[in-house]
Amino acid sequence: MTASGISPSAVEAFTQRERERFIARNPKSVALAERARNSLYGGVPMHWMADWSTPVPLFVERAKGARFYDVDGHEYIDFCLGDTGTMFGHSPDPIAKAISEQGNNGLSTMLPGEDAVVCGELLAAHFGLPFWQVTATATDSNRYVLRWAREITQRKTLLVFDGCYHGTVDDVMVRYRDGETVPRSGLVGQAYDLTQYSRSIPFNDVAALEAALAQGDVCALLCEPAMTNIGMVLPEPGFMQKCRELTRKYGSLLIIDETHTISTDIGGCTKLWNLDPDFFVVGKPIAGGVPCGIFGCSAEMAEAMTAARQRVSENSHGHGHSGMGTTLSANALAMHCMRANLEQVMTPAAYAHMLPLAKRLADGFRSLINKHDLKWSVTELGARSEFQFCPVSPKTGAEAEAEAAFHDELQRAIHLYLINRGILITPFHNMTLCCPSTTEADVDKLISMLDQAISELLAIPG
Ligand code: PMP
Repeated sequence: MTASGISPSAVEAFTQRERERFIARNPKSVALAERARNSLYGGVPMHWMADWSTPVPLFVERAKGARFYDVDGHEYIDFCLGDTGTMFGHSPDPIAKAISEQGNNGLSTMLPGEDAVVCGELLAAHFGLPFWQVTATATDSNRYVLRWAREITQRKTLLVFDGCYHGTVDDVMVRYRDGETVPRSGLVGQAYDLTQYSRSIPFNDVAALEAALAQGDVCALLCEPAMTNIGMVLPEPGFMQKCRELTRKYGSLLIIDETHTISTDIGGCTKLWNLDPDFFVVGKPIAGGVPCGIFGCSAEMAEAMTAARQRVSENSHGHGHSGMGTTLSANALAMHCMRANLEQVMTPAAYAHMLPLAKRLADGFRSLINKHDLKWSVTELGARSEFQFCPVSPKTGAEAEAEAAFHDELQRAIHLYLINRGILITPFHNMTLCCPSTTEADVDKLISMLDQAISELLAIPG
């Protein structure tokens, strides 16, 4: 028996049955997977797509609102929503319209249009920071903000929380183990020592935070206001305020990455909790599902960026490359879609619909846990909620990842069971997201299918 309360042999038998069910139910996905192996490395266009709980990738035919349809004709209620890329639902009508409007008007010129100006104004109004830049992904936003932070402060060390994820930015690929910063495991082709200029500390640990900052070499703390990539971990009351206070005290910048937590409120946790960061990052859903990232900064940072550029330019005699930007960043299609998203999709009404549904889902998870007498817990934040295989919500990345919380095989077995019954939740942990097209009936279906999964698991002799 594991700490999750479900026996490994039950999980194994259950998984075997569900894998067979998936194969029998999805002949077209199986055939496409077979064909794909001849041309796509690993049979998928991006290698993560082979990492789901299904025996072969589930091939999607189309998606709209809170639903998608696979190539075998099954309908799914989507609580993953492209892991937040389509947090406001698949192909919202205003985004579909914006794509068709821009489609025949030029997609990328490396020049701005009026949409860019409107987006800048809308971003300032939504998020409260005065100045904005547009990138292609949240990963890029974080990478560029880090360059600015290092240049502005003339310090090299980046501080992050153990278990963080901010995209495939080399500098964040570190963990905290026994008081030390170590490289994150699994990195492919890593050439240089990531621990030289990156430091990792536990989340919710004010003493560790102060000790790390007090060394005087930290350019910035880059953090999510609540961790969402190692399971969900909420900040203890006042912790994020401490992050602001202590970064200021030790001359380090505060970068808040709201790429996932933007599901909490229209201004993210930053606005809700009054966090006052130096830089603010969002990607994924900001252009309604079309690739786009943004970062904003305070007036003080904008001034410091100008001074930094001047200094760099003088040192390089006006030549050289900033090391930031990509050709397709802020392209016309992305800008037109971001404008439509900010004006018509990412609205208070959308949040007013999503938030109570997520609450209903979290309450449903809690009642299931009670009903089956499991030692599990539920963590919720805005439109996002998650059940975790540990008795109390984790306080650090290490706790979230501990065997009890992160029982991989059980998690994969449950996800596969749900997929076989037309429900998708975020892979690798148990996070769910409600969108403006999700209904109460959708939420209730997830609860009842999860109830059924747990009942069947518990009925298998251990
Ligand atoms: N920041 C956070 C908090 C994220 O969760 C992610 C992706 N999961 C990213 C940045 C990177 O986003 P992308 O992969 O779209 O660049």
